[in-house]
Amino acid sequence: MINLSNFSSIFIANWKLNGNIEFIDQYYQKLSINSEKCIVICSPNIFLSRLISNPNNLFKGAQDVSTYNQGAFTGEVSAHMLSEENIKFCLVGHSERRQHFNEENSSIKQKAINLIENKIIPVICVGETLEAKENKLTKTVLKKQISNCLPETANFQNTIIAYEPIWAIGTGLTPTFEEIEEVHSYIKNLNPKFNQIKVLYGGSVKSSNSAKINSLSNVDGCLVGGASLEVDDFNLIIS
Ligand code: PEP
Repeated sequence: MINLSNFSSIFIANWKLNGNIEFIDQYYQKLSINSEKCIVICSPNIFLSRLISNPNNLFKGAQDVSTYNQGAFTGEVSAHMLSEENIKFCLVGHSERRQHFNEENSSIKQKAINLIENKIIPVICVGETLEAKENKLTKTVLKKQISNCLPETANFQNTIIAYEPIWAIGTGLTPTFEEIEEVHSYIKNLNPKFNQIKVLYGGSVKSSNSAKINSLSNVDGCLVGGASLEVDDFNLIIS
C-alpha cells in the first residue's frame, strides 16, 4: 500500500464519465507533476490500463468497485481485479453514485473492506445536501456517514476521507474557507483513530481557489472533478 505520509498533499482527478483515447494521450503529455505531491488520476474503468503511473507520486485510481469479490455479477469489477491492474486508489460513495445508483452506507463500507484487503486505498466520499446544511445538520450527517461507511479495519494509513458537500459539486459554489477548516477538524476529531487521517476537500475546486483551500491546516489535498478535465487547469491546481 502507498505510504501516504510521504506526501505533503494529495490531489485526485475524478474524470467521471469523460475522456477518450486521444484525450488520455494528450493529458499525460502535458501533465506536470511535483515530487512532494501525490497525484491520482481516476478514469472510467475501460481506460485504467492506459493510464500512466510511476511508483513515487503518480498513481492510477478507479471511480468505483464491486461489493462482490467474484461470481455471477455481470458488469461488476472486483477490488482484486483493480489491484491486478496496479490501481492504488479507488473512490467510494461519491455523491453521484449515492444519488443516481442508490448506493448506501452499508455497500460503501463493504467496498472499502474489499479495497483495503487488496491493498487499495479507498477514498470515502462524504458530504451534506444543501438542505442539511441550511438546517445546520452538516456535522450530524457526516458523523453518521463516517461511522457507517468506514470499516473497522480503516486507519490513517489505509483510508482517505473526501469531504464533498453535495451542493458544491459541479456548481461553482464552495463553503467558506472557515467552514471547510471547521468540518475537516471535526472529521479528524470524531475518533482518536482518525486524528491523522488524510481528509481531502472536493466541490468546485479550481485553479483560483485551490491554493487557499489546500493551505488550510486540516486540508490534506483536493478531489477535483470538472477542473481536472482541463490539464492546464489541473497543472495549476497541483502546482
Ligand atoms: C467530484 O466529482 O468529486 C467533484 C468535486 O466535482 P467538481 O470538482 O466538478 O465539483
